[in-house]
Amino acid sequence: MMDGKALAARIREEVAAEVAGLSPIGLATVLVGDDPASDVYIRLKHKASTEVGIVSRDVRLPAATTEAELVERVRELNAAGSIDGILVQLPLPDGIDEARITAAIDPMKDVDGLHPFNAGQLLLGRPTYVGATPVAVLALLDAYAVELAGASAVVIGRSDIVGKPAALLLLQRHATVTICHSRTRDLAAEVARADVVVAAVGAPGLVQADWVKAGATVIDVGITRTEAGLVGDVAPNVEQRAGLLTPVPGGVGPMTIAMLLRNAVKAARYRAGTLAFPAS
Ligand code: NAP
Repeated sequence: MMDGKALAARIREEVAAEVAGLSPIGLATVLVGDDPASDVYIRLKHKASTEVGIVSRDVRLPAATTEAELVERVRELNAAGSIDGILVQLPLPDGIDEARITAAIDPMKDVDGLHPFNAGQLLLGRPTYVGATPVAVLALLDAYAVELAGASAVVIGRSDIVGKPAALLLLQRHATVTICHSRTRDLAAEVARADVVVAAVGAPGLVQADWVKAGATVIDVGITRTEAGLVGDVAPNVEQRAGLLTPVPGGVGPMTIAMLLRNAVKAARYRAGTLAFPAS
């Protein structure tokens, strides 16, 4: 089992030491509406920020907020001198075009890497901000010294926030990457060829033990709330097949929070000019 919790704790310590040596770092989150899962994520992000000394601002807007009002709030945060990083929690309520909102964020403050400029930089192999979850996937693979160059990697899920950036990061590390999704004809056969499997779907127990190549590394990004607690996309018996596997909870989740903190430090460095942000 890959211990995301322990690794995240180490990274948070490193971030806290870095933050102590910098001017106050401001991270703003924007939550529209009262989705309970989003509320939990936002709380975790603020708690973690505070613990490492990052000053977080919790902007909460009613579900009835219009797209124009939300764009206006984002612009205010873009202009705020005390704010280095901005994260708009997704999903947004129906009627708000997420692409419009992410495009309104100042690319230099876009810690989730969803602005077309930052997404494009990743596509071109010159990453600026990459979302915390895909970075967490790579950090876990690196921490366990998983060989990526030449390896066959299967990413299940093609969302802009997890699947696509995770696939691009793996490609950049010279893996041979296959991206699977809901229309993939034979998911079991695709997974069976993989040395590294990244499951980012949100379908409990989708990945079965008999699909997985013996000794493969399996990263379970999925989180589904059930009566039995949080469960991932990977069936429990995969533990017997995989060489390495991330638990849910305690794998990608805590690492995602740690990587968000890293992105906030990056934001402060970009804004201070100690790290060069490419001209957009
Ligand atoms: P999403 O936007 O709903 O994307 C899900 C992807 O899974 C889509 O690309 C979809 O394909 C694909 N899919 C759906 N059913 C499938 C099936 N039966 N076989 C193969 N592919 C299938 O979700 P997301 O935002 O990427 O998140 C994915 C999961 O990760 C969720 O459980 C989420 O809660 C979790 N998550 C965890 C963290 C963390 O910190 N651990 C962070 C973010 C997300 P189509 O594109 O064809 O519809």
